[in-house]
Amino acid sequence: RRWSSSDSVISSDSVGESPPPTAYRVVLLGASGVGKTAFASIFAGAADSMDSDECELCGDEVFEKEVEVDGEAATVTLIDTWDSELDDDSVQDCPMQSGDAYLLLYSITDRASFLRASELRITLRQFRPAEQTPIILVGNKCDLVRRREVSSSEGRACAAVFDCKFIETSTAMQHNVWEAFHGIVRQLRLRRDSKEA
Ligand code: GDP
Repeated sequence: RRWSSSDSVISSDSVGESPPPTAYRVVLLGASGVGKTAFASIFAGAADSMDSDECELCGDEVFEKEVEVDGEAATVTLIDTWDSELDDDSVQDCPMQSGDAYLLLYSITDRASFLRASELRITLRQFRPAEQTPIILVGNKCDLVRRREVSSSEGRACAAVFDCKFIETSTAMQHNVWEAFHGIVRQLRLRRDSKEA
C-alpha cells in the first residue's frame, strides 16, 4: 500500500474478532462548481458515520473514514481534487494516478461540466486500464429541475459508452450521495473478489 495513515485508524479502534476493514482511495473528479466539495463534506460529516473520531482531516482535501457497506466495514480515503491540477503534467503523484476508484461528477445544470466529465474520463483511461478501475459518472444537482441542461438519459448513455455506472445525486437534498459512495465500495469489492477467485 502506498499510504499508511489508515492503518493507525484501524489499529486504534479495531475490535478483536472482526477482520480489518479493507481500505480504498476514492478520487472525486469534475469541473469546478459541480459539487465536489459538497460531496466531500457530506462524506466527512455524515450523520450516519459510525464515530466522528473515525473521520480524519488528513490534509487539505483528503478525508478518511470507516464506512459500513452491506454489513462489511471499509476504510475510504476520499480525495477532493481541483480541476485545474488535473491538467498539470508536472504533478507526479496526481490524483488521476493514485485512485483505486473515481467518482466523476458533473452538474445536470451545466452542459460544459458534462463535456468536461467526458474529457476527464478519456484522460483517466490513459492512466487506468478501462475494465480494472471502478468509475461512477455522477450527475449532481438533480434538485435543480428547472435549470436542467443534461437529461438523465444522456447521462446514462454517456456512462454506457464509458463503461461505467451512472447515478444522479443532489448534495443539497442529500439525495443518493451515500448511494454513490456505497456503490463505489461495492464495485471495488467485486473487483477484489474477482481477482481473488
Ligand atoms: P466544487 O467546485 O466542485 O467543489 O463545487 P462546490 O461543492 O463548491 O459547489 C459549488 C456550488 O454548487 C456551491 O454553491 C454549492 O452549494 C452548490 N451545490 C453543490 N451541490 C449542489 C446540489 O446538489 N444542489 C444545489 N442546488 N446546489 C449544489
